Amino acid sequence: MALGEVEAVAKVGKGLFIGGKWVDAAGGKTFSVEDPSTRSPLCEVADATIEDAIAALDAAHGAFEAWAATPPRYRAEIIRRAYEIIMARSEELALIMTLEMGKPLAEARGEVAYAADFFRWFAEEAVRIDGRFYVAPDGNSRVLTMKQPVGVAYMITPWNFPLAMATRKMGPALAAGATVVLKPAEQTPLCSLALASILEEAGLPAGVVNIITTSDPAGVSEALMNDDRLRKVSFTGSTEVGKILAERAGRRLLRVSMELGGNAPFIVFDDADIDLAVGQAMIAKMRNMGEACTSANRFLVDSKIASEFSEKLADRMSHLNVGRGTEADTNVGPLIDQAAIDKVTSLVSDAVANGAAILTGGRANLDDGYFFEPTVIVGTSSNSSISKNEIFGPVASVVTFNDEAEAIDLANGTEYGLVAYVFTNNLSRGLRVIEALKTGMVGLNQGLVSNAAAPFGGVKDSGFGREGGFEGIEEYLDLKYVAINHRA
Ligand code: ADP
Repeated sequence: MALGEVEAVAKVGKGLFIGGKWVDAAGGKTFSVEDPSTRSPLCEVADATIEDAIAALDAAHGAFEAWAATPPRYRAEIIRRAYEIIMARSEELALIMTLEMGKPLAEARGEVAYAADFFRWFAEEAVRIDGRFYVAPDGNSRVLTMKQPVGVAYMITPWNFPLAMATRKMGPALAAGATVVLKPAEQTPLCSLALASILEEAGLPAGVVNIITTSDPAGVSEALMNDDRLRKVSFTGSTEVGKILAERAGRRLLRVSMELGGNAPFIVFDDADIDLAVGQAMIAKMRNMGEACTSANRFLVDSKIASEFSEKLADRMSHLNVGRGTEADTNVGPLIDQAAIDKVTSLVSDAVANGAAILTGGRANLDDGYFFEPTVIVGTSSNSSISKNEIFGPVASVVTFNDEAEAIDLANGTEYGLVAYVFTNNLSRGLRVIEALKTGMVGLNQGLVSNAAAPFGGVKDSGFGREGGFEGIEEYLDLKYVAINHRA
């Protein structure tokens, strides 16, 4: 590691953040964090045991009543200060993110701003928590509704957006008056640990946010979810793990938010602006090296324009620089680990075995890190496993269709329902297709939907609940209805 890199990593707390203090894991165990671009270790962080997780829950539970009772403006100002500190430390946070996750620095800076934006937005929302008062239809009583914080929330975040997934959950929870135990992914704990120091500096009272890093996510999560002081679980990650957690949450009827996998169709009609579609395809596919649940997973293109679109896309993809994210000219960083390389490699070879052709790329490029070439494959069958599984890598796979009905059928032919992208210059067609798509989000002539001010989330196997927007805070508020006898 270069000197600035060593210093940035050294500055981050490596312990567990519990009750406002940095502590070692019980027994002093640690686990190693790796740089995916070099496969060498960056540092060791505390490896929380079940006992540590319960200590974090004790702290969050102990802090709850007082935090819930704070004036909304007080909470808003702490969250706003945290936003400002994140922005002021953008360079440092971006570097840590690039080192532990791999994405190019420019993208890491983008994620830092996106992450901060959830704090800015929810600082603004903290002071707008409302209720209703109305006359019951029979005129005999009055209906009052109020919203109260859910209690202690447990948050499990993935490695692909290590800072934004934490703030997207924490921002609304803190604004609502809930307290938090956060468990980041074991591959990328450093951004969350850096966030703990920022929240402390912003004036967040001890115990309101607790952060535990662990190599035993299943054991720790089970212990927390079995404890009746926990009231809420918010998870972002794979559908497979999401289903396990939803089932476990069901046993205790915990409130649950699930942001799970996706298999986004990117539909290009023959009346689309093809150059616009290609430019947006680069974003929808290549942001985060394709390691996003919103990544375009299937390019569904009208057969009349499929070769023009695919060739233009392949040309753009072949000019990308693959390399270490810290290098200024890198456009595409490494994938997260060997399992990711194995999965992408096998999806591409399976597609080729089933008749697809490679226009560019196609191979893992494992000099030092987990690199994979930007790849475009055409003539992919909608039945091949690359069309059915989340690729989570820099591979664009093109499937053709002949009419609007077929495009909609192909788009909906998946158990996932997170996001779809639609490219057309025909407004009626656009609205018709959007209404028919079974997804929680749609990008119309746009390859990026993420926005702190908009409700992010899916349907079907992509989960439920919404993060961001006006809706996001509701995930951390319980509704209480009061029947009022106003004549008493
Ligand atoms: P990926 O396969 O992309 O790593 P995962 O769903 O496995 O996605 O991981 C997302 C998050 O879920 C991480 O924080 C990880 O530690 C956590 N996790 C993985 N398995 C479990 C489990 N059985 N119970 C609770 N959390 C888990």
